[in-house]
Amino acid sequence: MSQPPEPSARRTGIYLSPLAQRRAEFSGACGAAFASLHLADSVDAAASLLAQGQPDLLVLDLERFEPSIDLAALGALVGARAGAPTLLLCPFGGAGWLPALMAFGPAGYAMTPLPPEELGATVARRLADPARCAPASDADGLRGLLALRAGAQAALAGAEDSARLVEDLCQVLCAWPGVLHAAVLRRQPDGDLQVEAQQGPRGLLLGALLQRTDRLLQAPLRHAFPGLLAAASGATVLLDPPEQAGEPALAAGLRAHGVEMALGLPVPADGPGPARGALSLLFDVRREFSRDELDTLRDVAALAALGLRMTETAQENEALLARLTVISSTDALTGVANRRHGEELLEKEIRRARRYRVPLALLSFDIDRFKVVNDTYGYPVGDVALRIVADCARGVLRASDILVRSGGEEFQIVAPHTSAIDGLRMAEKVRQAIALAEIPGCDHVTVSIGVAQLGEQESADSLTQRVDAAVARAKRAGRNCVELAMQ
Ligand code: GH3
Ligand code: MG
Ligand code: MG
Repeated sequence: MSQPPEPSARRTGIYLSPLAQRRAEFSGACGAAFASLHLADSVDAAASLLAQGQPDLLVLDLERFEPSIDLAALGALVGARAGAPTLLLCPFGGAGWLPALMAFGPAGYAMTPLPPEELGATVARRLADPARCAPASDADGLRGLLALRAGAQAALAGAEDSARLVEDLCQVLCAWPGVLHAAVLRRQPDGDLQVEAQQGPRGLLLGALLQRTDRLLQAPLRHAFPGLLAAASGATVLLDPPEQAGEPALAAGLRAHGVEMALGLPVPADGPGPARGALSLLFDVRREFSRDELDTLRDVAALAALGLRMTETAQENEALLARLTVISSTDALTGVANRRHGEELLEKEIRRARRYRVPLALLSFDIDRFKVVNDTYGYPVGDVALRIVADCARGVLRASDILVRSGGEEFQIVAPHTSAIDGLRMAEKVRQAIALAEIPGCDHVTVSIGVAQLGEQESADSLTQRVDAAVARAKRAGRNCVELAMQ
């Protein structure tokens, strides 16, 4: 047989708040529930009251306390209760207090601001049923938490890119009992926030609720919507109920979809600086979270941060690889394809020309008497000449033509869809453009050019040899001219 509840006339309580007005309000709303209610204005005052005897209910009003300063002292009060009922009155924008204080000992909570009648009812409920003062997870609850944790881990393990990761996370969060809608908000390179993924009932879209989809920090409800507030402030935000933020438009919007509670969990940054984003959860039931649940939610947010970092790292790696590929296939002096890359491209174009039965021309040119240029004007002037020669050739070519620096002062042009006749025309344009170009420090240079059209069964080696022989003939013919390769 359980004992009938003691008449409230014999209940004792301690309420702690440094704010005189809050103490007066609490006394007004809840004083009648206690035979004796002590109002403490400081942690020390509450501690000495507790030392004189444990009350039936300790109420810690966290408004105006600072986690970074007061956590240990307030935690000591919770710890001193040895399991006796403690009620935390927690500002909705500081829900991070809850798991932090619950780590010191069991405690229940209510989010504030709370209308006096609701505060009175909350306190009366705790006094009537002290055993249920600190919410604990039952077997089903723990199974749900395990599924949530495992789901978040799996989302992370399977994430190929950030889009997939955030989709999967929303799905996992939505499967948690009570969650109606889940979203991931992420900070963009411009510092503002965007909804990266969301899942919920048809018609419940954050864009509609917040009246915009990107640059969400500009949204009129940024100070009230938990997901936005959490990302902006880096704190856990719990609107329990939605009216709490004092923003009727938000409350009405949420209520219209059956939302009873809204939670925003910051997705932490790697180091100092603003949060990477936030998880937004909208619940269709109103209930008190246990410490296990709050810890799990915080861990899921930490996993989300890790996952986003991992996908960013993967993207950065791809970008680095792409840069490396460009660097390793490009000639540093002229910016055109280097010899190795040119050979690959020639092989590829030969295969393509065969497959589609279209002509392919290879041009090769060599700067005339370049040794003299170097010897007369110096190597740096020679380098400038090489760059200008490459630029001139590039200026004449079509987008599909490939310019290659095949040797010291030798270049090739791989010209797809080009016959010998067209190749000769192209070569003449290149020759003239180079001959006309002014080169600071040495006036002009000329080139000797060979042109060859790919034979039906011809290999890249044979084509290259033929075109080089044509260049040699052009040299013998007096330089600054074009020669067609022999078949
Ligand atoms: P030809 O008309 O017969 O081609 O005469 P050439 O002097 O151009 O021929 P040769 O092969 O004797 O000389 C090539 C010169 O190109 C020698 C070399 O120093 C120069 N050269 C090769 N690579 C570079 C480079 O990267 N920068 C500079 N400045 N010169 C280079
Ligand atoms: Mg040469
Ligand atoms: Mg030369």
